[in-house]
Amino acid sequence: MVARNISFPIAGRVPIGGGHPILVQTMCNTSTDDIDGSLAQCRAMAAAGADLIRLTTQGIKQVDSLRQIKERLRAEGIDTPLVADIHFLADAALAAATVADKVRINPGNFAKEHAVACAKFRELLALCKQNSTAIRIGLNHGSLGERITQRYGATPLAMKEAVVEWLKMCIEEDFYDVVVSLKASNTIVMVEAYRLLYAAMRDDLGCIFPLHLGVTEAGNGDEGRIKSAVGIGTLLGEGIGDTIRVSLTENPVNEIPAGRQIVAAIAAGYSPRGGRSCVEADDWNDFIIKASCLWGPSLLDKKIDDFSLEGSTIGGAPVPASDGERFRDMLLQACRRRFTRPEYIACPGCGRTLYDLESTFNEVKRRTSHLAGVKIAVMGCVVNGPGEMADADYGYVGEGRGHVTLYRGKTPVIRYIPQEEAIDRLLELIESDR
Ligand code: SF4
Repeated sequence: MVARNISFPIAGRVPIGGGHPILVQTMCNTSTDDIDGSLAQCRAMAAAGADLIRLTTQGIKQVDSLRQIKERLRAEGIDTPLVADIHFLADAALAAATVADKVRINPGNFAKEHAVACAKFRELLALCKQNSTAIRIGLNHGSLGERITQRYGATPLAMKEAVVEWLKMCIEEDFYDVVVSLKASNTIVMVEAYRLLYAAMRDDLGCIFPLHLGVTEAGNGDEGRIKSAVGIGTLLGEGIGDTIRVSLTENPVNEIPAGRQIVAAIAAGYSPRGGRSCVEADDWNDFIIKASCLWGPSLLDKKIDDFSLEGSTIGGAPVPASDGERFRDMLLQACRRRFTRPEYIACPGCGRTLYDLESTFNEVKRRTSHLAGVKIAVMGCVVNGPGEMADADYGYVGEGRGHVTLYRGKTPVIRYIPQEEAIDRLLELIESDR
């Protein structure tokens, strides 16, 4: 079957997909109930050029907070569409459908019983239709339900199969205001999942729904940007993707320029199909993003094993050799071709985070930088953290205010310890296993 329909939902005033410009979005890491704090962050994000802003909406109370935030932003003339981020509570999704411009859900989490989850999902579609609210079906590699993994394993195919089931229901309900994401922290899994889904929508489903691209738990700094540029850039370079989020464990406002740089790099021909063989960059961030978009896809697909920086420049000068080598190590690791440093998996934090994630993550990185090849996750909350840690060897997961639980693989081994002692205990745990 050839796709007969190209869907482009409209979130608030903004069309997504269908050939419209690629949108760059971000997410508040404030508590949504902290109205003033969230407003301040939304204002900064809007000023930085965010096309959409997402806020954590755990329950009905946060839906009301979201309503207040939206009203005040609109009164100030800021009309950036707001997205409610729902994980489990179908009732929160239903309430948010009357408030938010778009609701992000993982419908498989609505209920343990699949039939109940389907019924809630159909109810949500009806309400979204009435209210002209778009939805995003966001399935992450780490949050696949048992029903799917028992059949397909935790694979890109499983991610594709899981989401196609929900998309068929959207088509049955004649609801097309849908965006889809299939994120993973592993760039190979992420790229493969989106490619499979795109092909299934084009060849089997009869409708191409717009795709929201992102690499989850990408971390921060150079590594976070490089991993995101590899995953997102590979797909954008193939014409796949309509809106993107660069998830960084940093001030979320920083996600906007990073996202814009990826979009601009692809538009300027920095992709395997773009016709360039070296990078002309304005500064270091511009260089790592352009170079990751240019060489990352071929490394990821094992079409090349290495790349040359000859002829590449930053601000008109050749790339310094030591910086070039450091970048080479980071890019090869982001493409999962060669592991020369610890592999960090860190969520960006959101309204569920109850500790200073960014400084903790930086401290964990500083104290574990010698552990090449060890995969260490630093996650903001126990609600999603353990599931989203992917294949981490060790996990540092926030559990309530000021407390942390340490994991070996997926198993909690040191529970609910004060944050002040958690990094020392993490180091002890890793050392005891070596
Ligand atoms: S793991 Fe928890 S704190 Fe981190 S982004 Fe996901 S929901 Fe938010």
